[in-house]
Amino acid sequence: MLFLMNLFAFIFGAAIGSFLNVCIFRLPAKTSIIRPASRCPQCLHPLRFYDNIPLISYLMLRGKCRDCGAMISSRYPLVEFITALLALLLFMKFGPTLNFLIFFIFTAVLIVITFIDLDHQIIPDVITLPGIPLFFLAAVFLLKVPWRDALLGLLIGGGVLFVIALVYELITKREGMGGGDIKLLAMIGGFLGWKSLMFVLLFSSFSGAIVGITAMIIKKQDMKYAVPFGPFLSAAAVAYLFWGNDFMHLLFLPY
Ligand SMILES: [Zn+2]
Repeated sequence: MLFLMNLFAFIFGAAIGSFLNVCIFRLPAKTSIIRPASRCPQCLHPLRFYDNIPLISYLMLRGKCRDCGAMISSRYPLVEFITALLALLLFMKFGPTLNFLIFFIFTAVLIVITFIDLDHQIIPDVITLPGIPLFFLAAVFLLKVPWRDALLGLLIGGGVLFVIALVYELITKREGMGGGDIKLLAMIGGFLGWKSLMFVLLFSSFSGAIVGITAMIIKKQDMKYAVPFGPFLSAAAVAYLFWGNDFMHLLFLPY
């Protein structure tokens, strides 16, 4: 029974991941995420329903369009797999609860932000501007996060990066942290509460620095072009869902 429920969580995640792919490709282009139906970007032939099954169709088609043989980006099954895996892990941690559902929606939004930021170096306002109040309200009214914790998280989250960005700009005379990152951290802080911010900032800057320095060595690039920060903030926020509690205990702070 437990296995079946876990399997269902994974399949549910894969199906949502399929929709997230659509959002990742269409939101930056400002086209409708509902219409037209999914089609091959090469020959524009609409996908048959049996060629549109998350993860499975990609494997069955061996990564090629059934009509024109064009390669299908491995990005599609990757996003589906990541979403499915996180749905499974969240379900295993939180069980069939409202918390699971809300944390999964939060995670799904972060997955979309991550891949759009990787592709375009932007975090669309169309996600974060409604996301900030909606996740704040979800935290306070559904997750019972004390409203002061959530509000402080929102303000500090937005404020901390804003100050860092301002100082960076004043010193180097060039734009570093994007406004998108600031709104993203405000959304994260407003949802997880201000106590999460230390974890999120530590986790994201450490992982960001490791990847950034590696990228600089490999590509011999200037730090300025190295890596967008949104994916690291997103990964840190998801990591907090799993390890935030332990981290707080480690520091002897009340969760
Ligand atoms: Zn095609």
